[in-house]
Amino acid sequence: MSDEKIPFLDLVTVHRGLEEEFVQILRKALSTAGFIGGPMVQGFEQDFAQFCESRACVGVGSGTDALRFALIAAGIRPGDIVVTVPNTFIATTEAISQAGGTPDFVDIDERTYTIDPVKLRQYLETQCAWNPTLKRAFHNRSGKPVAAAVPVHLYGQMADMDPILALADEFNLKVVEDACQAQGAEYFSQKDHQWHTAGSMGHAAAFSFYPGKNLGACGEAGAVTTNEEPIAQICRLLRDHGQSKKYCHDMEGYNGRLDAIQAGFLRVKLGRLKAWNEQRREIAERYHKLFAGAEALLTLPHQPEGSRSVYHLYVVRVADRAGLQKRLDQAGIGTGIHYPTALHLTKAYEGLGFCVGDFPVAERASAEVLSLPMFPELTGRQQERVVSEVIKACKCR
Ligand SMILES: *Cc1c(COP(=O)(O)O)cnc(C)c1O
Repeated sequence: MSDEKIPFLDLVTVHRGLEEEFVQILRKALSTAGFIGGPMVQGFEQDFAQFCESRACVGVGSGTDALRFALIAAGIRPGDIVVTVPNTFIATTEAISQAGGTPDFVDIDERTYTIDPVKLRQYLETQCAWNPTLKRAFHNRSGKPVAAAVPVHLYGQMADMDPILALADEFNLKVVEDACQAQGAEYFSQKDHQWHTAGSMGHAAAFSFYPGKNLGACGEAGAVTTNEEPIAQICRLLRDHGQSKKYCHDMEGYNGRLDAIQAGFLRVKLGRLKAWNEQRREIAERYHKLFAGAEALLTLPHQPEGSRSVYHLYVVRVADRAGLQKRLDQAGIGTGIHYPTALHLTKAYEGLGFCVGDFPVAERASAEVLSLPMFPELTGRQQERVVSEVIKACKCR
């Protein structure tokens, strides 16, 4: 029987209906030679800030640029510790190091895979000592000050921001959201009893528009959002060699600008993002219903009360992940692993001196998570086949 293949991600279909609009963007760019900066970038920045309910948006070259610039602009200085989680893409910790900081880790919540605020408190209270004069928590072992936290809104779901922001207040930390996977995700704050969009709660936030993200460019792109104009201003300098005006370099910066053509494409796609995110939610709900009764075989994603995920990924957990992935591959079903190695155990961070067992929840997740096909155009029929193959594979272990 030749079952149709089901890809993990489909980046072809989504752009078919947008071709005409994209060609117009290209024509406009060619006719004005507006390739870098200009009205297309500003237009997108305005729209995206509004989408995130954030005061400012600064378009940059990638999510990694966004993280690096946001951290520097938030005041991270060489020697500072920046705390994040081990189960994220390495760009999160690369940006911390590139900003001059040292990454340190706190383990995650077992069910949401985002930073566990209880463990963040334990870290600050038991592994650090508060210096009231300098108003900083100093890490006992390294003697370095803890300056910031980077909660990662993983798989499309926001981290538990209320307790994180309360700790940030208490310990004088900057909070930079890694919102690269969470364009449009929402969190209900018990503080003001309102829903908040990813990118509007921290001091700053970083977004990636890598093609596979919920809002993806047709190339590289990213953005910083912030409610603090001084942070936005520094990010604008950092992305363009520190230039306030041509050849007036207020500081050293980077080449990290947002390409105007990508900004134009992104602006077109941003108009569809709410609908696409809604489709992802419906797909997640359908997966949930189709998997009902199979909870003994696998762990499904958990969306706590007060969280609205945008399901960048639909991630299940099984003991025999390799077996399941192989069976699905044989059935023509694409999957992914996000991420196979917790960062404290990758070769790049050997020098930080962590061991197996340091962050057991993240380590277990890295061994068991499997991302199933998830994209707005995924059909109900395709989902039924994915689920029946997953259940078949899990049953005959
Ligand atoms: C994609 C991603 C990044 C990096 O974004 P780029 O645009 O590829 O630089 C950073 N953090 C997370 C969690 C991501 O998913």
